[in-house]
Amino acid sequence: MVKITLAKGDGIGPEIMDATLNILSAAGADITFEEIEVGEKMYLNGQTTGISDDAWETIRTNKIMFKAPITTPQGGGYKSLNVTMRKTLGLYSNIRPCTSMHPFVKTKHPEMDVVIIRENEEDLYAGIEHQQTDEVVQCLKLISRPGCEKIITYAFEYAKRNNRKKVTCFTKDNIMKQTDGLFHEIFNEVSLRYPEIETEHWIVDIGAALLADSPEKFDVIVMPNLYGDVMSDIAAQIAGSVGLGGSANIGQECAMFEAIHGSAPDIAGKNIANPSGLINASVMMLNHIGQNKVAEKIHNAWLRTIEDGVHTTDIYDSVMSTKKVGTKEFAEAVIANL
Ligand code: NAD
Repeated sequence: MVKITLAKGDGIGPEIMDATLNILSAAGADITFEEIEVGEKMYLNGQTTGISDDAWETIRTNKIMFKAPITTPQGGGYKSLNVTMRKTLGLYSNIRPCTSMHPFVKTKHPEMDVVIIRENEEDLYAGIEHQQTDEVVQCLKLISRPGCEKIITYAFEYAKRNNRKKVTCFTKDNIMKQTDGLFHEIFNEVSLRYPEIETEHWIVDIGAALLADSPEKFDVIVMPNLYGDVMSDIAAQIAGSVGLGGSANIGQECAMFEAIHGSAPDIAGKNIANPSGLINASVMMLNHIGQNKVAEKIHNAWLRTIEDGVHTTDIYDSVMSTKKVGTKEFAEAVIANL
């Protein structure tokens, strides 16, 4: 039995997490959960980091974490717990598959099957941000050789393991010649070790335009932190909905699994959120801990539910869908398909 740290998060977090936990339990996942309190409640209790020391201890001991989205309060003083966790636990690789569910979910890009691999610790998210004068604030962009080597090697190894044919790199090294230049240079170096995999590089702006226009031309895409954060939401949305995407944050020792979207406060408490992103994250987590059969069972049941046209509001379409359901009812439909 594997012990996993659980955080139900904020906004739609508890609803989509309860739905997913019901599926995991019905599918017979061999897991026990140790729940911790993180996020909004902690922030509002005066904990500016959004997490207690005890919760850190639990995360470090269990090593695997399953997390629903957390709200980061806007404004000064509050640190994003998501960013802190990725850095503190050394979760250097963020994997975000974005695949069209054509013809069952409406998309302009039926052939899309892209995996975005985002560097997760460095870049403008390294947390080096400060007030210089009353009128000037500064954020430093940090890119290191070991950081680039780790993430780019991970992307090629991922492509090899998953029988993917091409790895693309996005940077802005025409302008940021040293930082993004280093990322691009190391991409070229690492690619030499994988002659069987096709490679290409695009400046991130035209790369983004091409990804939005013809995503079927891409396979695995590796990029620095900020571009990966932005690009993966775009990719998930053009594949069908930001509510569909699961995400794995992988480090040498620890791993954390979550949906790619945020806590969606605009629809919280209404039982209308799509739990698919977290369900797909749970499938990635089960594969990571070696429970591949349960992972396959849940993934197939989820696929069947989507194929049956049983859809939450975000993906509901009067032509392609057969039934509009809430968060709980969607999970029940998945369970009935297990
Ligand atoms: P968001 O992803 O929460 O929501 C964007 C839009 O997508 C909203 O209209 C929302 O209703 C919709 N949406 C998101 N998930 C959905 C789902 N499962 N089903 C149906 N519709 C869905 O982005 P935001 O509004 O920019 O952020 C809200 C909060 O979430 C912020 O505090 C932000 O910091 C936080 N956030 C957390 C994480 C995380 O915990 N990993 C990631 C991103 C944002």
